[in-house]
Amino acid sequence: NNDSLTPPLLPPATLGMLGGGQLGRFFVAAAHEMGYRVWVLDPDPHSPAGRIADRHLCADYSDAAALAAIAEGCAAVTTEFENVPAATLDHLARFVPVRPSASAVGVCQNRILEKSFLAEHGLPHGEFAVIRSETDLVDVPDTLFPAILKVARFGYDGKGQSTVADRGEALAAFRQCSGEACVLEKRLTLDCEVSVVLARDQAGTVRAFPVAENRHRAGILDVSLVPARVAPALAEEAVALAGQIAEKLAYVGVMAVEFFVVDGRLRVNEMAPRPHNSGHYTLDACVASQYEQQVRALCGLPLESGAVHSAAAMVNVLGDLWFAHDTASAQEPDWGQLFAVPALKLHLYGKHQARRGRKMGHFTALAPLEDAEGALHAALSARAA
Ligand code: ADP
Ligand code: MG
Repeated sequence: NNDSLTPPLLPPATLGMLGGGQLGRFFVAAAHEMGYRVWVLDPDPHSPAGRIADRHLCADYSDAAALAAIAEGCAAVTTEFENVPAATLDHLARFVPVRPSASAVGVCQNRILEKSFLAEHGLPHGEFAVIRSETDLVDVPDTLFPAILKVARFGYDGKGQSTVADRGEALAAFRQCSGEACVLEKRLTLDCEVSVVLARDQAGTVRAFPVAENRHRAGILDVSLVPARVAPALAEEAVALAGQIAEKLAYVGVMAVEFFVVDGRLRVNEMAPRPHNSGHYTLDACVASQYEQQVRALCGLPLESGAVHSAAAMVNVLGDLWFAHDTASAQEPDWGQLFAVPALKLHLYGKHQARRGRKMGHFTALAPLEDAEGALHAALSARAA
């Protein structure tokens, strides 16, 4: 572990952010409020975080000149995007603290390494097989079907996944993957899905946010509800498992662990080496958001508690909403209606172009802490209106 304990980085230090999506944008906003400067590296000239950063390095993640500028100009570097090449993180770590480390991000960015990590450490996970060739598919047991074939790298929001009923369908789906390594997962019947977002500092202190209950639509997170409506013992176990994962990865920063609940028991689905969509609610319902915690972990400041002061229901706003009335051309939705709902916080990411399935924003309905149902009801009625 080359991330030795160093004195905290204080404002107005300049922080480097690899990735310029909405997660990076909220990090920039949190860092700005705390007095830091932020440089963002993202090849998209319209990147949401780049637009509000002190400097947007508009270049590829392995661009030598951009990396040299970051190594020179930033006091520490973090990421909001798990597909930043591990080589980029390794390279930068020679010059500045990089948190989380390349090795931790490397495990989370490849489903084969991720699942093998879980298996090696005896952490609960669903049945799976690594598929590198058609022969591998011949060898998988019948009990794995029905299944989901997922490409090992670069999948998100359900992309790169095919639902397959049997071996024949799996073979056909694998042939579509042009030789990419995949994992084949048994399709589980889920009671529900939950996630834990936590921060871990260099000394190993972990501060977890409460467990979120997550509902997906077409492979994309749709609604997150906090507190999750699960047994307290199950919530405690989820937090404990997430903490173990962070410790075993020697993780420094904010990470998320997604779980399936199957027959009342937890199975780890996947890890994200960054703040998480299901942790957006922390912006409005917590003492410190997941983004403030990310700044704190990166800079070596003491972590805040993950305490919530309100129940919260977060709804993702997808680009589909722009096409609700006219299927051919995008039309800005009428935000006035959402702003009129009390205790509802709308966040828009300033994305250049609305596309179907693209995350454009989210809103969070708040209610008294003991009234999760009330928050959910408020969020769903706001969406229906
Ligand atoms: P992504 O990287 O796109 O988030 P996930 O592996 O988390 O990929 O899959 C997205 C969603 O698809 C999950 O949250 C879950 O709703 C569903 N899903 C994925 N794998 C399984 C499985 N093995 N059994 C049942 N549902 C699954
Ligand atoms: Mg997922």
